[in-house]
Amino acid sequence: MADQHPPVPSDEAHVPGVVARLRRTFEAGATLPRESRRAHLADLRRLLTEGGDELGDALAADLGRHPTESWLVEIAFTVGELDHVARNLRRWTSNRRVPVPATLLPASATVVREPLGVVGVIAPWNYPVQLVLAPLVGALAAGNTVVLKPSEVAPATSRALAGLAARHLDPDVVGIVQGGAGTTTALLEERLDHIFYTGGSRVARIVATAAAQNLTPVTLELGGCSPVWVDPRQDLKAVAGRIAWAKWLNAGQTCVAPNHVLTTPDAAGPLADHLADAVRAMYGADPSASPDYGCLVSEQHHARVAALLDDSVAAGAHLHHGGRRDTAARYLEPTILTGVRPHHRVMSEEIFGPVLPIVEVDSLGSAIDQIRAGEHPLAAYAFTDDDADRRRLVREVRAGGMAFGAPMLQLSTPGLPFGGVGESGTGAYHGEASVRLFSHEKSVFSKPLRPDTLALVRAPYGRRTRGMVRAMFGIGPRR
Ligand code: NAD
Repeated sequence: MADQHPPVPSDEAHVPGVVARLRRTFEAGATLPRESRRAHLADLRRLLTEGGDELGDALAADLGRHPTESWLVEIAFTVGELDHVARNLRRWTSNRRVPVPATLLPASATVVREPLGVVGVIAPWNYPVQLVLAPLVGALAAGNTVVLKPSEVAPATSRALAGLAARHLDPDVVGIVQGGAGTTTALLEERLDHIFYTGGSRVARIVATAAAQNLTPVTLELGGCSPVWVDPRQDLKAVAGRIAWAKWLNAGQTCVAPNHVLTTPDAAGPLADHLADAVRAMYGADPSASPDYGCLVSEQHHARVAALLDDSVAAGAHLHHGGRRDTAARYLEPTILTGVRPHHRVMSEEIFGPVLPIVEVDSLGSAIDQIRAGEHPLAAYAFTDDDADRRRLVREVRAGGMAFGAPMLQLSTPGLPFGGVGESGTGAYHGEASVRLFSHEKSVFSKPLRPDTLALVRAPYGRRTRGMVRAMFGIGPRR
C-alpha cells in the first residue's frame, strides 16, 4: 500500500514574485539564444536522469506505482521527448522563407518562430512528472521562461519536483509553485503569455475564463471516455493482452486509457474471459499483493470509482471479474463488467479507474453511432484488420487521436501531435507540435524601395489599377 504524504505547502503568496523574476529574464533576452535553450534542456535532462529514482519513489508513494512502470511512462518517456526535440532544435526554430506572389516581387517573406514570453504549466496528478516536464521541454526549446504548478493531489511528487528543480534548474528561467486551487488562482491572475493546462473539464472552464480576462492563449489537455471497438473476427486473446496493459496501467488513471469496450454479443463473453486471464498473468490471483499494480490516488477518488461500479451492478451490470477493494489502502481490483447498458452510471462519466465495462452492440455501425452520441473523446481505439472498417472509423469518429491494434501508442510517437478536440481539449503538443505551440509565428515581409512597383496600386484608380487587381487575384472590377 502507498503511504499518503502530508499536503504540499502553498506558494500562493510567492506567485507574483516568481512570475516577475521570470518576466525580467525573458525581457532581458536571456532565453532567446539557441545555446541558452540547449543549456536549459541539458539541465532538465540531468534532473530526470539523476533524479529519476527519487521521482520513482515519490510516484510509488502517491500512486503505488512500480518504479519501472514510472520510468517507462514518465521519466524515460520525457527524456525521449527531450532528446527528440533537442536533436531537431535548429531545424524547428530556424526562420523559414515562404514564396512571394509574382505580383509583389521583388520581395522576400519569412516566418520567424519567436518565444511567447512567460508560460504557465498547470498539471494534474495522474502522470505528475510527465505532464509537468514534457510541456516544459517544448516551452524551453521555444525560448520561453516557465512557471510550473504541479498537482497538490500527488504531494510526494510535487515536493520531489520542487526539490529537484531547486538543485538542477535555473530559477530565473523555470519557477515552480506548489499548492492547490489558491496557487492556481494566483497564477491565473498574472498576465501570463500562455497557459498550458492539463486536467478535468470543470477546472478547464475556470482556467479558460480567467485567461480570457487577460486575453492569454490557453492549451487545454483534457480527458473523455475513450472507447475501444473490437471486431469479433480478431484474435481475442491477443486483443485482451493489449487492452489489459493499457487499461490497468496506473490503475486505470490514464487520460488515454480505454474507458470501455464495444463489441458484438458473441465476442463479449470470450473477450471478458481473456481479459480476466490477462489480469491474472500481469498481477497474479491477488493483485493487492502485486508490487506491479498501483492504487487510486486518494480516498475520494476511490469512493467515486467504487460508487460508479456498485451502482452499475445494482442496476443490472454483471460483475464478471474483480470488484474486491480496500478503502484504506486505496486499492480497487482490476474489474471487468459485462452486460453494461448505456444508462448504467459507469457509462455516465470518464471512469478514470480500474473498471472496464464491456458494452454489446450489433455492428460497427452501432458502435460508431454510440461513440458519436457522446462528447468527442481524447482517443478512440479499434482492433480490426478490415481496411474499409478502419477507413470508416477514421472518417466518422471525431477524437483527439486514434490507434489501431495498440491503445495509447499514438502518445509515444513524437511525430504525432497529442491533444484533444471539443470537450477533450484544445491544442496539441509533443515534438515539433510543442515548439510550434509555445512559439509565435511572426510574419516578416521585406521589399526594396526600387523599383517602385506599388505605384500601380496607388490612387488615382484607373485602367492600370484594374489590370493590377486582375493580375494579383485573377478577378477584378469590370468597369
Ligand atoms: P483537475 O482539473 O482536478 O486538476 C488539475 C489542476 O487544476 C491541478 O493542478 C489543480 O491544483 C488545479 N485546480 C483544481 N481545482 C482548481 C480550482 N478550483 N481553481 C483553479 N485550479 C484548480 O484534474 P485532475 O483530477 O488532476 O485530472 C483528471 C483529469 O485530467 C481527467 O479528466 C483526465 O482525463 C485528464 N487528463 C488529461 C490528460 C491529457 O494529457 N489530455 C492527461 C492527464 C489527465
